[in-house]
Amino acid sequence: MLKNDRLQLIALIEKRASLLESTLSDCSPISDRKRSQSDDAAANLDLTINASVDEKVLLEHKLELAQLTTSLSWMQTDDAGVCALCVRDIPIGRLKAVPSTRLCVACADNKKD
Ligand SMILES: [Zn+2]
Repeated sequence: MLKNDRLQLIALIEKRASLLESTLSDCSPISDRKRSQSDDAAANLDLTINASVDEKVLLEHKLELAQLTTSLSWMQTDDAGVCALCVRDIPIGRLKAVPSTRLCVACADNKKD
């Protein structure tokens, strides 16, 4: 992987990760919010209805953040940008589009089947 590509990717990953971190810190857990307004039945019902969606999104954010953190340390190694399965170089365009990936397009497609 070219040094310049690597630096660009690191900047991109850090930007995305800090965005996710601020989103996550803005969201208090549903259970905390429920407790703080336990006397408001309507609001509680609303929270309960939206809870599954909120928690799914939060979980996805946490997962992506973990993957980005892994990608960031991966960028510091000699294996940076190399597909974890077939050991070919992952095209830089793909890494920029999906910074959390560790697989080339072909391997990612194979995994889906
Ligand atoms: Zn591959």
